[in-house]
Amino acid sequence: MDETGKRAPESYRAETRALIRERTKLASLLTMIIVPLYGAFDYLLYAENLLSLLVGRALCLIGGAAIYVALDRSTLGIKHPEWLTAALAVLFGTTVFGLQVYLVGFDTPYHSGLVLAIAGMAVLLPISLWQAGAIAVGMTLLYGTAAVLHGGIQSTAHFAVHIAGLATATAVAMVGIGVGERLRRTEFETRSALRAMAEEKSRLVRQMRDKTAQLEALNQDMEDLLYVASHDLRAPLINVQGFARELQLGLAQLSSHVGLVPEAKAVREDMEESLRFILSAVARMDSLIDALLNISRIGTRTRPTQRVDLGPLVEKIVESFRYQLEAKGIEVRIGWLPQVVGDPVRLNQVFSNLIENAIKYMGESPRRLIEIGTADHGAALYVRDTGPGIASEHRETIFRLFRRLDSSVPGEGIGLTAVRKIIEKHGGRIWVESEPGAGSTFYFTLGAGKGGEANEERNSEL
Ligand code: ADP
Repeated sequence: MDETGKRAPESYRAETRALIRERTKLASLLTMIIVPLYGAFDYLLYAENLLSLLVGRALCLIGGAAIYVALDRSTLGIKHPEWLTAALAVLFGTTVFGLQVYLVGFDTPYHSGLVLAIAGMAVLLPISLWQAGAIAVGMTLLYGTAAVLHGGIQSTAHFAVHIAGLATATAVAMVGIGVGERLRRTEFETRSALRAMAEEKSRLVRQMRDKTAQLEALNQDMEDLLYVASHDLRAPLINVQGFARELQLGLAQLSSHVGLVPEAKAVREDMEESLRFILSAVARMDSLIDALLNISRIGTRTRPTQRVDLGPLVEKIVESFRYQLEAKGIEVRIGWLPQVVGDPVRLNQVFSNLIENAIKYMGESPRRLIEIGTADHGAALYVRDTGPGIASEHRETIFRLFRRLDSSVPGEGIGLTAVRKIIEKHGGRIWVESEPGAGSTFYFTLGAGKGGEANEERNSEL
C-alpha cells in the first residue's frame, strides 16, 4: 500500500520486489567488503577485545554471504526479499554494533557507523516506510540495550546526543524513502501510460494497414473486373460487326442478281437501314469498351515519376483546341504553372479532358473565358470556365462512371472518372466549385494532398 492507502498494481509490486532483491544483494556484498575492513580499526582501538570483535565480524561475513545466496536462489528471496533485507539489518546491527557497544560501551566512535547504516538503507533500499522505520527503531533500541548491558550510561548528555543522532538519521531516512517512493510511483505510472499509448498506437497503425490492404485489394478486384468485362465484351462485338458487314454485302449482291419488285426494294432499304444502325451501335459500343479498358489501365499503367513542366504542356493542349475555341469565340488565359513530378501522358489527359469539357459545356454564356492556373499559393491547380455551372447536388456524382448532366452535348460520361483516377494515382484529389449560371472551377492537387508547389519542392530533392 502507498501512503494514500490505494493498493499499488501487481506489476508495480513485482517491480518493487525485484528492486529490493537486487539492492539487498548489493547491500550484502557491501557488508561483506566493509565489515572485514573495519577489523583493522578494532585492532587499533580495542586490542583487548579483538578476538570477540573479530568473531562478531566473521559471523556477520558468513551471515551476509548466506543472505546473498538466499536472495539469489531461494523462493523466499524472490517472493519476500524484504524479509531478507530485515535479516541483513538485524545481522549487521547485532554482530557489528550490538557486540561493539556491549563490549566497549555506548561512547564508541563506531556509533556514527550506525547512523550511516540507517541513512544508507534509505538511499539503497526501496522498502516501505514502515519496514524502514521498524529497522531504524530496532537498531536504536539495540544500541540502547547493548549500552545498558555494558554497564549503564555514565554520561546522559553524551548518550542523549547519540540517540538524537540516530533519531535524526531515522527522520532523514523516512523523508528520503517517502520522496523516493513517490517519485518512483510517478515514474512507473508515466511509464505504464506511455507503454499503453505506444501499444494503442501500434494497434491503430496495424488496423489502418489492414484496412488499406483491404481497400487496395478491393480496388484491384474492381479494376480486374472492369478489365475482364470490357475485354471479353469485345470478342462477341467483333462477331456482330463481322456478320452485319457480311449481311450488308450479301444484301447488295442479292439485289444486283435478282431484279427487285417494288415491295422487295422497300424491304431491302429497311434492312440496309437496320444494318447501318446495328453497325453504328456496334462502333459506339466499341469506343465505350475502349474507354473502359483505358480506365482499367490507369491504375497499372500510370507512372507518376517524371519531371513535367506544366506550362508548355498546357499551351500545347490549348493550341490543339484552337479551332473549337475560335469557332465558339472562347478566350483562354493561362497563368503561371509549376513543374511537377508525374506521368506526362496522364497529366496531358487530365488537362485535355478538363479543357475539352470547359469548351463543350460553355453553352450560350455571354462571357466566354477559360482560365488555367494555380490557387492556394500553388497548392492546387485549376481549370475555370464561365459556362452554366454545376448544381451542388451533382458536384460529387459527375466524377462517377457514366454520370452525365447534359444529354444535348455528345459524350460518354467517362472523362471525369478517368481524370479522378489519374489524379488519385498521383496521390492528389479533385473537386469542383461552382456558382450555377456563372461557371465552374475544377481544382486538383498532385501528391499527398498537395499540389504544384509542394510537388515542385519534391522536385528539388530528385
Ligand atoms: P462527358 O463529358 O463525356 O459527358 P465527363 O465525365 O467528362 O463526361 O463529364 C460528366 C458530366 O459532368 C458531363 O456530362 C457534364 O454534364 C458535367 N460537366 C463536366 N464538365 C463540366 C463543365 N465544365 N461545366 C458544366 N458541366 C460539366
